[in-house]
Amino acid sequence: MTIQTRISSGLPVSERTKAFLAGDHKLIVGAGNLSAQGDAKIEVYDPASGGVIASVPAGGKAEVDTAVAAARAALEGPWSKLRPSERERLLLKLADAVEADGPLLAEVETANNGQSIGIAHALEVGASAEHLRYMAGWATKCYGQTLDVSIPIPPGTRYRAMTRKEPVGVVGAIVPWNFPLLMAVWKIAPALAAGCTVVLKPAEETPLTALRLGQLIRDTGFPEGVVNVVTGYGHEAGAALASHPGIDKLAFTGSTEVGKLIGRAAIDNMTRFSLELGGKSPMVMFDDMNPDLIGLAANLGVYFNQGQVCTCGSRVLVQKGIFDKVAQTFVAVANGLKIGSGFDPANQINPLVSAKQQSRVLSMVERGAADGAMIVAGGAAPDGPGFFVKPTVIIGAKPSNVLVREEIFGPVVTLLPFTDMADAIAQANDSVYGLSASVWSRDIERCFIFADAVKAGTVWINTHNVVDPNMPFGGYKQSGIGREHGAVAIENYLETKAICLAL
Ligand code: NAD
Repeated sequence: MTIQTRISSGLPVSERTKAFLAGDHKLIVGAGNLSAQGDAKIEVYDPASGGVIASVPAGGKAEVDTAVAAARAALEGPWSKLRPSERERLLLKLADAVEADGPLLAEVETANNGQSIGIAHALEVGASAEHLRYMAGWATKCYGQTLDVSIPIPPGTRYRAMTRKEPVGVVGAIVPWNFPLLMAVWKIAPALAAGCTVVLKPAEETPLTALRLGQLIRDTGFPEGVVNVVTGYGHEAGAALASHPGIDKLAFTGSTEVGKLIGRAAIDNMTRFSLELGGKSPMVMFDDMNPDLIGLAANLGVYFNQGQVCTCGSRVLVQKGIFDKVAQTFVAVANGLKIGSGFDPANQINPLVSAKQQSRVLSMVERGAADGAMIVAGGAAPDGPGFFVKPTVIIGAKPSNVLVREEIFGPVVTLLPFTDMADAIAQANDSVYGLSASVWSRDIERCFIFADAVKAGTVWINTHNVVDPNMPFGGYKQSGIGREHGAVAIENYLETKAICLAL
């Protein structure tokens, strides 16, 4: 069955991008391009209009089996024969290829995810290239240790012990839709630097840049099967990958709910796993904060990428003395943001990724309001097509309100008052999540007292939502297990072998 591309000709994209969207997309497995069994397809939408822009194969267990076999063959074949410096060089070449393909990748991401073309260029393309370059450097810097040991038997024997780091093996990477290309690169780059091979399963909503990346990886000269891309639904391709006995390590970014399923499936095969999950991150504003930063906090911390950011500061805790001023500023920011397609860089609020996500966010706002919370800005979809939600500000919510407790993943913020440091810490930590937090104050000692006390994987001071490849990223509590970025990310993809020599 072939589904015709219906609206891509109307998108404000280059002819090259149109041709890519209209292409007959196939899975990237080993040396080949595969269709799914029965030619099953998933339609891919432009969230700004709701129209179909492309279709991709709906891979399942059979395709995952083939991809895992290809990744295994590459691992045991040509890939393991390369020197670390050769892996480094390939990753650097791939970073250049991603940048060179940037105009197309960014347009495809904006067409598919809905995000601003500026974010697509800066993050999906720019930050992905930087991440690849950063991780490329680690390929030549994996090392073990020599160890002094005290083994007493047989009497008089001396030993020399050491550890050696080895690639963990075939990696199953499952990623979400909020930053489709970047999330894929956060997995692939350290895995390849460590010497692993990969089967990547992008989100069904946003599979296109993953397929393009798979093609770039091939074109760059990586041996066949080193990175395989299987598009498909989570409960089919994703579940097949998570429970596959041929996978040595699962790297997942997504919701806490699905993360738990992944962890359970992994344990059955004793597959190693790391989970980057959801959050309900507090932004804590003390009354001595620089008032000029309140607007930045709203724009960068909350409404960036329509709030579809795992570290979104969706709970803003405000010391009572400045509550009214913060509320007024947030309302002014929310009401002033220009809503529209991501292709116009002047638009600051773009569509959410899907109709499902739009109705999920709006229904959470409705439930929150029914439970006593007050909507003081937004709270609805604007008129017209597309999956938009107006930037929303909530006050007066009880601690038990759904808008205080659950991840929303949309442009919605709840402002809550606090009295003093103890109250701020108690409220900040009153969540099952612990992905990130930020503290806003001119008193640096106060900031560090808060930073030490909050249970969060990242704490920002006077900023929010900024990440770097050298800065570990991940969650406390139900926000995940393990860390990405930095040296610690490489460890995710390495086994430690102890070697002991009797002299
Ligand atoms: P999701 O959990 O629904 O889906 C994520 C991925 O898992 C998708 O590829 C999906 O197809 C797959 N999947 C779904 N069901 C599956 C199953 N049963 N078995 C295997 N795979 C399955 O998440 P989403 O809605 O795509 O993304 C939003 C979530 O991602 C939010 O909760 C957000 O906080 C989180 N996120 C976390 C980080 C982080 O680094 N901590 C970063 C970005 C997004």
